[in-house]
Amino acid sequence: MVSRVVFGRGCFNQLSELLEVKRISDKAPFIFIVDDVFKGNAWITGRIPLAYSDEMVYVSTDEEPKTSQVDELVEKIILTHKDRPSGIIGIGGGSVLDIAKAVSIMLTNKGEAKDYQGWDLVKNPAIYHVGIPTISGTGAEVSRTTVLTGPDKKLGINSDFTPFDQVILDPELIKDVPKQQWFYTGMDCFIHCVESLNGTYLNTFSKSYGEKAYELCKEVFLSDTVDKKLSDEMLMMASWHGGMSIAYSQVGVVHALSYGLSYVLGTKHGIGNCIVFDQLDDFYKEDLKIFREMKTKHGIELPKNICKDLIDEEINTMIDVSLGLEPLWENALGPNWKRKVSRTDLHQLYRRM
Ligand code: NAD
Ligand code: ZN
Repeated sequence: MVSRVVFGRGCFNQLSELLEVKRISDKAPFIFIVDDVFKGNAWITGRIPLAYSDEMVYVSTDEEPKTSQVDELVEKIILTHKDRPSGIIGIGGGSVLDIAKAVSIMLTNKGEAKDYQGWDLVKNPAIYHVGIPTISGTGAEVSRTTVLTGPDKKLGINSDFTPFDQVILDPELIKDVPKQQWFYTGMDCFIHCVESLNGTYLNTFSKSYGEKAYELCKEVFLSDTVDKKLSDEMLMMASWHGGMSIAYSQVGVVHALSYGLSYVLGTKHGIGNCIVFDQLDDFYKEDLKIFREMKTKHGIELPKNICKDLIDEEINTMIDVSLGLEPLWENALGPNWKRKVSRTDLHQLYRRM
């Protein structure tokens, strides 16, 4: 779990105060990893408290985060600064938060980021790391994973050292997210809840968070009476609760198939999940009705036929990536999941997307 969190409009202004006590020395910098969408945005970057040899590193989120990208960032930090950083601060969406988590782990663990893709492979505690979400839905701000695309798989670094030490939840930071992205990332949260609440790993802990997030998503995406400010606050908390729900259970068929899509096509997580979910009437019928209602209400048109031109070998790679995510399938379909889903089924599903 994240050990410390502040919430509230404007609480981003507390960053300086929160970091002050964590500075190891004037030679041990804070490294701020910031989404490059905020380049030139003084309202955000002007409030980042740089001192001594602190550094701001902009990263692009055009593509899903990669293990090689994390390795490059770590190498650059080690080469630039003699002392180990006092902390890593990620400011952005799921992509940037995941990069920040991974960098903080790789600064204290030998080898390459790809060596740690899996469950509980990290040996040493990460350095102090802070997450500041600027878009809500993934739950990356609260989860114990950092999802990375490596040379041979898309898989998270899942470990007890992955969660942030401090999170700053300031709903004001998400106010300018473009509508479509707001929907896709928000739907990631809704889908987390659907997969958790319908999964065989469900337990009372997960359920209590999942149900709350599910209700918040319905209000945010279907209610006509919630104003924008309140809606942003609710979505931020939905993301948190949805993340807590899957942290103690697991995601399901949507994520398993969506990882295959993004591995082969580079499809981004939020939209990829929506494309997959829309085909899964056999698995999540009732919730799909709600999803389609939300889609219509917000005028969202999903891309079609994205797998149309793929050769069978590429579809087979997608299926391999997907079926490799065994806990996701086991959560969705139970211990005998291998008898309930075939490569042919998945082939047909991918061809329909
Ligand atoms: P993102 O971080 O990829 O950002 C999406 C887009 O929104 C980008 O163009 C970004 O620049 C823009 N953006 C972000 N904040 C903005 C703001 N305030 N104003 C304007 N534009 C803004 O999107 P995401 O959906 O939050 O994250 C997706 C990533 O999260 C994927 O890589 C996925 O694998 C990962 N993920 C991680 C977890 C986890 O538990 N670690 C869970 C789910 C998803
Ligand atoms: Zn997700």
